[in-house]
Amino acid sequence: MTDILVLGGGYTGVTAAIRLARKARSTGARVTLVNASPRFTERLRLHQTAAGERLADHALSDVLAGSGVELVVGRVAAIDPELRQVRLHSDAPERPALDGDAAPHGDAAEPPVLRYDKLIYALGTVTDATVPGVAEHAHVFDDYTATVRLSRRLDTLTRGTVVVAGGGLTGVEAVTELAEARPHLRVVLLTRGRPGSMMGQAARAYLDRALERLGVEVRSGVSITKVLPDGVELGDGELIHSDATIWTTGTRALPLAAEAGLSVDARGRIVVDEVLRSVSHPDVYAVGDAAAITQKFGVMHGTCQGGIPTGLGAADSLAATLRGRTPPPFRFGYVHQPVSLGRKDAVIQFTRPDDSPRRGYLTGRAAIAYKETVSSSPITLWKLLKRGLVPVRVFGLTAGRA
Ligand SMILES: Cc1cc2nc3c(=O)[nH]c(=O)nc-3n(C[C@H](O)[C@H](O)[C@H](O)COP(=O)(O)OP(=O)(O)OC[C@H]3O[C@@H](n4cnc5c(N)ncnc54)[C@H](O)[C@@H]3O)c2cc1C
Repeated sequence: MTDILVLGGGYTGVTAAIRLARKARSTGARVTLVNASPRFTERLRLHQTAAGERLADHALSDVLAGSGVELVVGRVAAIDPELRQVRLHSDAPERPALDGDAAPHGDAAEPPVLRYDKLIYALGTVTDATVPGVAEHAHVFDDYTATVRLSRRLDTLTRGTVVVAGGGLTGVEAVTELAEARPHLRVVLLTRGRPGSMMGQAARAYLDRALERLGVEVRSGVSITKVLPDGVELGDGELIHSDATIWTTGTRALPLAAEAGLSVDARGRIVVDEVLRSVSHPDVYAVGDAAAITQKFGVMHGTCQGGIPTGLGAADSLAATLRGRTPPPFRFGYVHQPVSLGRKDAVIQFTRPDDSPRRGYLTGRAAIAYKETVSSSPITLWKLLKRGLVPVRVFGLTAGRA
């Protein structure tokens, strides 16, 4: 019996676990998924949660039902790759288990330890809080609990200013969602470059018009040096008042992999080879935002679009290895940058495999439908995976049948 531990029940960890449980069944492997929370967090929709939208609650036990994957709810504290063990924190999970959920693992007095033969690391990333004051005073889109806290803070404001730092796609989705859902608030976007600077000119012009229509105040070319309890300080000393500050400027991996002695890049992501195995510890695979994966165009950046194929790729690679076969190299190319602009508008920029913009883009109703399909596709994919029905090509990855 091979014990396979998947750390992280986000988009990529769930994908890898379900795929692997199905593929490795004939080899007698046992797949266990460890996640800090009993619920699956739709990170793609956290800006909707912040705006106060009530979203479907996905218990991981329901998501995994019938897949053969065992669920352990607990927070990973340390990994020992020499002993092939993972130690969990002995504290309670992120929030009480939903009815019918797996119980938190172990008792509170003794930190539980899980052993493994093969590990898939899918713990994602957290907001980079290196600017002073971010950790203490800014809201972030790292998990459901923190985002609900933000939403409750916004509920208390009958007027006032919300400052969003970062003009990347997360920042744009946040300001448009908030400006639409909470029109009584002044929403300010502070960004170094132009909002959505990775998009093509026409899509970006559409995005600019949406920001203007929704009354978002955009200040480009600014650098925030400090976050204060009631505002932010800019590089030139100017203070901007804020009743709630949201930080979306970048992410970094958790320190767990580096602390375990795994080879990591400058952002703490596990460096993997072309079959998604750690270059320093071949029993460990890494996927999603937590992995530094090199393709022809360079190192992949964290998206669900790229992350889900890495989950499938790592599962296939590990299953092939268990069967004594040589897995093919992982190949991926981007296809789009889907951006919601509130609930009533969206813009989809189609891209080349290296994520540079093509000419084509979608707007309006077609874009809203496209974006919603993208956001709900992981849940649909998992249902298909559990039934052994897998699209032959998933965003550029040749996946084949389970
Ligand atoms: C508001 C927003 C909108 C986005 N929109 C898009 C989009 O439109 N398209 C797109 O492609 N990408 C989008 N992204 C990026 C996308 O959400 C991430 O790339 C994706 O979530 C990465 O998946 P993952 O499985 O690697 O990590 P995650 O989804 O973050 O999952 C990590 C999991 O690990 C768990 N975990 C963390 N630490 C521990 C621990 N110590 N112990 C146990 N469990 C732990 C977490 O609870 C979580 O379940 C968006 C992100 C945000 C914030």
